Amino acid sequence: MARIVMKFGGTSVADLDRIKNVARHVKREVDAGHEVAVVVSAMSGKTNELVGWVQNTPKVVGANSPFYDAREYDAVVASGEQVTSGLLAIALQAMDINARSWQGWQIPIRTDNAHGAARILEIDGSDIIKRMGEGQVAVISGFQGLGPDNRIATLGRGGSDTSAVAIAAAVKADRCDIYTDVDGVYTTDPRIVPQARRLKKIAFEEMLEMASLGAKVLQVRSVELAMVHKVRTFVRSSFEDPDAPGMGDLLNPPGTLICDEEEIVEQEVVTGIAYAKDEAQISLRRLSDRPGVSAAIFGPLAESHINVDMIVQNISEDGSKTDMTFTVPSGDVEKAIKVLGENKQKIGYDVIQNESGLVKVSVIGIGMRSHAGVAATAFRALAEKGINIKAITTSEIKISILIDGPYAELAVRTLHSCYGLDKS
Ligand code: ADP
Ligand code: ASP
Ligand code: MG
Repeated sequence: MARIVMKFGGTSVADLDRIKNVARHVKREVDAGHEVAVVVSAMSGKTNELVGWVQNTPKVVGANSPFYDAREYDAVVASGEQVTSGLLAIALQAMDINARSWQGWQIPIRTDNAHGAARILEIDGSDIIKRMGEGQVAVISGFQGLGPDNRIATLGRGGSDTSAVAIAAAVKADRCDIYTDVDGVYTTDPRIVPQARRLKKIAFEEMLEMASLGAKVLQVRSVELAMVHKVRTFVRSSFEDPDAPGMGDLLNPPGTLICDEEEIVEQEVVTGIAYAKDEAQISLRRLSDRPGVSAAIFGPLAESHINVDMIVQNISEDGSKTDMTFTVPSGDVEKAIKVLGENKQKIGYDVIQNESGLVKVSVIGIGMRSHAGVAATAFRALAEKGINIKAITTSEIKISILIDGPYAELAVRTLHSCYGLDKS
C-alpha cells in the first residue's frame, strides 16, 4: 500500500465527462488499496474568465485607475478550484468512494502575504493523513491557501502543480502524479514541434530551467519543492484509459519522472528546448560609464517589482559613455520606462529605446557542463535559417537567445533538430 497525491489540471477537469474520467483514475488507485489525496485545478478557461472579470470591473464602473485590490482578486479567482473540488467529490461519492472536498483554508495551507503570487509557508497535513487512514479520499482545491491576514491567497498562474507537490511533501506521499493533457515532459512543447520526444526521466535542475524558461507543463515553484523535499513526481496523461494495462504500476507508471541526475543513466548533452513569448528589450543609450550606474538602473526597477532578465552592457570606446540593454516581460515595458524616466538624472543617459514582441528560446542540458561547442552549434543553425540574434545569456546548463517574435516556431524547430532531438 502506498500514499499517492494525484493532481489534475484544467483540461483534465474541463467538463463533467472529464471529471468522471478523473474519478475513474482515482478509483483505480483506491481499489488498489492506496491512500489517495487529489488536487484539482479550475475547469480550463475558467481562471482566465475570472481574471478578466476582475480586470474589467474598475473599467465598467468608470474608475480613473485600472488597479484593483489583490485580496479581492484572490477571492474571485480562487473560486474556480472550489467548484471542481466539490464536483469531483460528488462524482467519487456517486461511485461509492468515500471522498470529501477541502479548500486551502480548511487544511490549512498557510501562505505568505503576496496576494496573487503567494508562496506556501506551511501545511498542516495531520487532518488529511488521519482521514486518508480512515479510507477517505481528500479532494483539495489547488492554487489557493490562507494568507497571514486570514484571507484567501492564490499561488500564481499554474499554481495547482505547486499545491500538489507541497501537499505530497506535507503528507509524506510516496508519489505525486501530475496528470495533464500530454503524456509526459517532452524535449520541447509537443504542440509546436510534433517531432518532440517524450522523456522517460528528466533531472530536477533541467526541469527547473525548462519551467522557468517557458515550458508551462509544471510551475517552477513545484519543481523547486519536489527537488528540496525529494518528492517522487511524475508527469502523466489523464486522457489515457484509466484502466489500461500498466496505468496502476506503482514503481514505474507511464509518464516522465522528475528525479536526481544520478538516476539518469544515459545523459544527453542537450535535453530540451524551451521558449518564452512576450519579452521586451529596453536599451539605454549613451550612459555614463562609471561605478554605480547599474545599481541606479536596476535598483528602482527591482523596487517596482519589475523582473529584469537578460542584461547586456557594451564596453565603451573611450571609457566615458556606454549602452545598456536588458529584457523585461512585455507587460512591464510601460512601467519600466516610467521608472527609468523618473530616475533619468540619477542614471544619466541620452535616450531610451524599446522593442516588444520578442521571444527567448533556450537550450537546456546538464551535459553542457562537460561539452564545448554547444552554443556555437545553435548560433550556426539559427544563422543558416536567417534568424537574427538580439541578445544571448548563458549559464552552466543553458543558453538563452533573444530573437524576433515571428521566428519563434522556426527557431524552436531548428534548435530541436540541430541537437538531434527529433524522434526518428
Ligand atoms: P494543466 O492544465 O494540466 O496544468 P498546462 O497547460 O499548464 O496543463 O501544461 C500542459 C501543457 O504544457 C501541454 O499541453 C504542452 O503544450 C505544454 N508544454 C510546454 N512545454 C512542454 C514540454 N516540454 N513537455 C510537455 N508539455 C509542454
Ligand atoms: N487554475 C489556475 C490557473 O489557471 C491554477 C492552475 O491551473 O494550476 O492558473
Ligand atoms: Mg498547468
